[in-house]
Amino acid sequence: MSIVDELETFSNTEKMPLLFLGHGSPMNAIEKNQFTDGFKNICNTIPKPNAILCISAHWVTRGSKVTAMETPKTIHDFGGFPKELFEVQYPAKGSPELANLIKKTISSQNIELDNKWGLDHGTWSVVKHLYPKADIPVLQLSIDGSRDMRFHFDLASKLSFLREKGILIIGSGNIVHNLGMVDFQNFHLDNYGYDWAVEARDLINKYIITEDFEPLINYQKLGKAVQYSIPTPEHYIPLLYILGLKQKNEKIQFFNDKMVAGSLSMTSLKII
Ligand code: ZN
Repeated sequence: MSIVDELETFSNTEKMPLLFLGHGSPMNAIEKNQFTDGFKNICNTIPKPNAILCISAHWVTRGSKVTAMETPKTIHDFGGFPKELFEVQYPAKGSPELANLIKKTISSQNIELDNKWGLDHGTWSVVKHLYPKADIPVLQLSIDGSRDMRFHFDLASKLSFLREKGILIIGSGNIVHNLGMVDFQNFHLDNYGYDWAVEARDLINKYIITEDFEPLINYQKLGKAVQYSIPTPEHYIPLLYILGLKQKNEKIQFFNDKMVAGSLSMTSLKII
C-alpha cells in the first residue's frame, strides 16, 4: 500500500484533542472511583476517534516501535494483584495500516513495526474506562529509553498530522511517581501527598499552565522536590509527548488533579 492509500484509509476529521492520563494503580482498571469517573467524563466531551495511539509509561524500548498487529493481546504487566485484574481482557483491534502510516510519515526516525507487544496496563487500564466496548482500534508507540527528553518532545510534534485523521493520542503515565515511597496503608485517603510531592505537582502544573515547557523538558534541574517525584523518567515522558503536540492556540484543561498515597499524582490533562 502506498502512503497515499494509507492516508486515505483514515478520513479527515476535525482535530482530535490530546489527553495525558495519570493511570495510577492498576487496580483503577477494575474499580469505580473519582479518577475512573474523571476518565469517563472527559471521554463524553470527545468525538469518537477512528483509532487511538497511546504512549504508555510501561513500554520502554531501544529505538522507537509502534504496535502493528491486527489483534493486540492484553498484557498483564504487574504482580501481586488480585486474580480479577489478571482476568481483564481488552480485545480492541490494532491497525497495521495506521502503524505503517506512522512509520512512513515519520521517515526521519526509524520507527520499527512491532508484532510482539500488545496493550500493556498503562494503556488498557485507562482506555477501558473511555471506551468499554473496545470497539476502537488501539496502537501503542514505545518510549525509546536511550533518548533524552528533547527527543521525545520533538518526536511528538511529528505525530501532529494524526489528529486530523481522527486519531486520539493519549499519553499514559503519572507526573509525580515515586513507587519506592508509596504509603500503601493510605491509598484510601483523598488527595494525600507528601509535602515534596505536592510542591513538585504545583511547580510542574505552574509551568504547564503558563505553557513554559523548556523547564519541563529539563525537569532534572527543577530541584529536590521534583527529583524525589520523578526518580525515573518513564512515567513522566508521556506528558512530554502531549505537551510537544500542543499547538499555540489550544487550551489546557486539568482534571483528576489529586495526590494519592503520598508519592503519586493522578493529574490528567485534556488539550484542545
Ligand atoms: Zn504505571
